[in-house]
Amino acid sequence: MKSEQLAHYRLVLEEQLAHLTEATGAHESVIDESHTTKDFVGADRAAELETLEVDASITASEHRLAAKIHYALGRISKGIYGFCETCGEAIPTARLDAKPSVSLCLKCQEAHELEP
Ligand SMILES: [Zn+2]
Repeated sequence: MKSEQLAHYRLVLEEQLAHLTEATGAHESVIDESHTTKDFVGADRAAELETLEVDASITASEHRLAAKIHYALGRISKGIYGFCETCGEAIPTARLDAKPSVSLCLKCQEAHELEP
């Protein structure tokens, strides 16, 4: 993916994150790019977040979306954004435009969802 495209999606993702945190009053700045949902329950993270009362104001699905956006931003930094995590194929830009936080192509996403 071209660097201009990466810059575009980074902007879109950062905007989404801003809206998410605006709506919930959360301070995402305490969560850096390398942290995923799993880390929200990490002891020191939890204490940090508790202080900011993030847990009370952000829903589970918003948590997941925020984590996905952070993950996608991390993938942009690494230059691997826009490629399917499973098969390595380029994800169509139409799909990325609709859902910039996706990390799987449609085929792999569907296969993933069909898993028992
Ligand atoms: Zn794939």
